[in-house]
Amino acid sequence: MSADPHCIFCKIVAGQIPSKKVYEDDELLAFHDINPWAPVHILIIPKQHIVSMADVNEAHAGMLGRMMALSPRLMLDLGVTGGFRHVINTGRDGMQEVMHLHLHVMGGPRPWLKG
Ligand code: 5GP
Ligand code: ZN
Repeated sequence: MSADPHCIFCKIVAGQIPSKKVYEDDELLAFHDINPWAPVHILIIPKQHIVSMADVNEAHAGMLGRMMALSPRLMLDLGVTGGFRHVINTGRDGMQEVMHLHLHVMGGPRPWLKG
């Protein structure tokens, strides 16, 4: 599986940087955002190093679908019952900071810090 040795999320996948994991399988990893905008704020990422949504194509449809389909179960497990929000930032103009594809899933009672 491809990894970028300089990528912070690849290091999280490899266990070289600690994270608060909420889910893991062969293809995906989910963990709490270090700087949460909402009472519950997780990131779901592919373990494979894919830079952003600008780099995906139809071959990634299954993996992207799994990222989306996993999120309701994880939010329920984390006690989120009032709804949640998905965000994916892509590229410079999309305000992406970490260049490894990630799906933000945020929920919990408002007010939130952001979002
Ligand atoms: P972006 O702006 O790229 O969509 O979001 C990147 C997210 O990654 C931010 O919400 C930021 O708080 C989170 N983040 C950055 N570095 C780390 C880290 O080392 N660990 C965790 N758990 N989250 C991180
Ligand atoms: Zn990476």
